[in-house]
Amino acid sequence: MTLRNAMSVDVEDYFQVQAFAPVIARSAWDGFTPRVDANVGRILDRFAAAGVRATFFTLGWVAERHPKMVRRIVADGHELASHGYGHALVHTLDAEDFRADVRRARQILEDIGGVAVTGYRAPTFSLGARTPWAFGVLEEEGYRYSSSTYPIRHDLYGEPDAPRFPYRPEGTALVELPLTTFPLGGRNFPLAGGGYFRLLPYQLFRAGLTRLNQRERRPGIFYFHPWEIDPGQPHIRDASRVARFRHYLNLAAMPGRLDRLLRDFAWDRIDAVFAEIIATPAPARLAEAAV
Ligand SMILES: [Zn+2]
Repeated sequence: MTLRNAMSVDVEDYFQVQAFAPVIARSAWDGFTPRVDANVGRILDRFAAAGVRATFFTLGWVAERHPKMVRRIVADGHELASHGYGHALVHTLDAEDFRADVRRARQILEDIGGVAVTGYRAPTFSLGARTPWAFGVLEEEGYRYSSSTYPIRHDLYGEPDAPRFPYRPEGTALVELPLTTFPLGGRNFPLAGGGYFRLLPYQLFRAGLTRLNQRERRPGIFYFHPWEIDPGQPHIRDASRVARFRHYLNLAAMPGRLDRLLRDFAWDRIDAVFAEIIATPAPARLAEAAV
């Protein structure tokens, strides 16, 4: 049987990305004309045409303003999951503020979507060794898995030495599903999407994912953002050159590449691809149960 990979979308608008945070205050978000609902609509059309189901990690802030979009995600058979409420980086919060953020997001999403929300992705992969308390908080708040770590070197995020494949953070029943990487010459290279997917030639990306599936016998986790298929979005001119380069690079090529990716591999929602590992109780829990 063909190995299925996991497709995911981080549902946020173009003015909410971390790279623009220095020039766009959170208090200014409501002043921008939203494009996220139209972009998600286009993504849902593409997924429907390709027969692909995916996981949508949605910001609570966005869900509140676009409930119809949230209901269509669910109605189309996709997994509704949480990207937190306000896109605050986890390592800038203390445990109680983090708890309030993930609780609020989950409540909003479940109320609007009418389904259980059990998956979480941290904004800008800001969860990991610096925030060892975060996994326990997620578990206590009803989450079953997190897909929030990216074991690469990057100036904004990443922990190059973190595990490459699913694991249970110590002392929790939660599962962490790291974003996909490609090991080469003692380093991990990103193979999960975002800006790298627009930067690298498609053939190279396809070869990397094929090798992961065939040689390592592992499913990959791919992610992208609704603004990445939207070349018509307003440009944020005050942002740094690096931020603008990363954000606007090859946007026009993205829809075509995405369609190829959807065709070239088998895809499903995260909770389906990793159903077995998410459902298996942690060894510590088994031991407790035996006593
Ligand atoms: Zn995000």
